Amino acid sequence: MQKKTVEDEEVYGKRVLVRADFNVPMDRNGTIEDDTRIRACLPTITYLIDHRARIILCSHLGRPQGRVDGHLRLEPVARRLSELLQRPVKPLREAIGPEVERAVSGMENGEIILLENLRFYPGDEENDPGFARELASLADLFVNDAFGASHRAHASVVGLAAYLPCVAGLLMEKEIERLGSLLENPRRPFAAIMGGAKVEEKIGILENIISKVDLILIGGGMSATFLKGQGWDAGISPVEPDKMEIVRAIMQKAGALGVRILLPQDVIVTEKLKTGAIARGVSAQQIPADSIIADIGPQTITEFTKELKNCRTVVWNGPMGVFEIPQFSEGTKSIATALADLHAMTIVGGGSTAEAVTKLGLSGKMTHVSTGGGATLLFLSGKILPGIAVLADKE
Ligand code: ADP
Ligand code: MG
Repeated sequence: MQKKTVEDEEVYGKRVLVRADFNVPMDRNGTIEDDTRIRACLPTITYLIDHRARIILCSHLGRPQGRVDGHLRLEPVARRLSELLQRPVKPLREAIGPEVERAVSGMENGEIILLENLRFYPGDEENDPGFARELASLADLFVNDAFGASHRAHASVVGLAAYLPCVAGLLMEKEIERLGSLLENPRRPFAAIMGGAKVEEKIGILENIISKVDLILIGGGMSATFLKGQGWDAGISPVEPDKMEIVRAIMQKAGALGVRILLPQDVIVTEKLKTGAIARGVSAQQIPADSIIADIGPQTITEFTKELKNCRTVVWNGPMGVFEIPQFSEGTKSIATALADLHAMTIVGGGSTAEAVTKLGLSGKMTHVSTGGGATLLFLSGKILPGIAVLADKE
């Protein structure tokens, strides 16, 4: 179904609330390590500037869990945006309330403000109608450009739609078009590589994608829960205890569908995940009780690379290890390189995964680098993402 975009609406002089995905990697001093996601939203913002709208930007950043966290303010994002656009972007200290209303009512055409981190309010993740209504009251039109957040039914993604007309931003439109056409008829074998940290969310996604692919390679933080689900010990690696049943169900479903799920046979472990930590390679079946999984091991790299060589379509979300620390970056580097060398359709998604690939200078060698991670995988599994479902259809 074709969705309406910002180009289908009259925006001159209107207050337009843009849900962006400015969830960028940022250190504790507010230094942005990778601004890909900010740049990705520029076409929509520029379009709105050119058409003299009043632009109210909003986004989440990190996981402050409904409370104000001084390290997760969006002010550094406003600064970067302002540099990129070469015009002022005014950060507010709140996302709703009288201060915000005052700021919005004083806006001129073409002016830009950025609301404070939406996740400082529990109502966003809870999809609270009251929070959605307050946000909606600031604007005349809602533009969702946060493809990467559209698999979550949050107030700023889904809830707003009850109170405002909502259309796709230009990045959202591009992601839907690219991913839709790439995956209409995927060439096989089709593999999904999954890793990273958000295990709880990703297990649900894996359950969905299993019926689309031939092969699933698992690394990163995901592997601990899967190894544990197979009855192995994962040391002190964080596992999702209440996901064991689902893991077993997934393995069973995979068996029934003839989908192979490959877990790491060896891993790099450490006692503490920090810079300068001592890294040790061990068999995945002999993880010491005091250790944590930090990367996939060399045998696994060899095996995964060999498997990937046969694939004609590969989707990757989630680093294979804690790649930010050099001792644990080998798995991610090797998989990125293997993908770059393939004669296959390669789709890489997720904030950290895209960052890793970009830092290696390999993004140009992928078919598509998506701004979404979980959202990309879920989209590819054929699910209609909640944030896309609520966008108005083209007439
Ligand atoms: P993406 O942003 O690509 O969707 P995630 O957000 O799920 O991926 O996860 C990215 C994070 O996962 C990275 O910061 C990386 O350090 C972390 N990570 C990868 N492997 C492990 C592991 N074995 N243990 C803990 N964290 C891990
Ligand atoms: Mg991430």
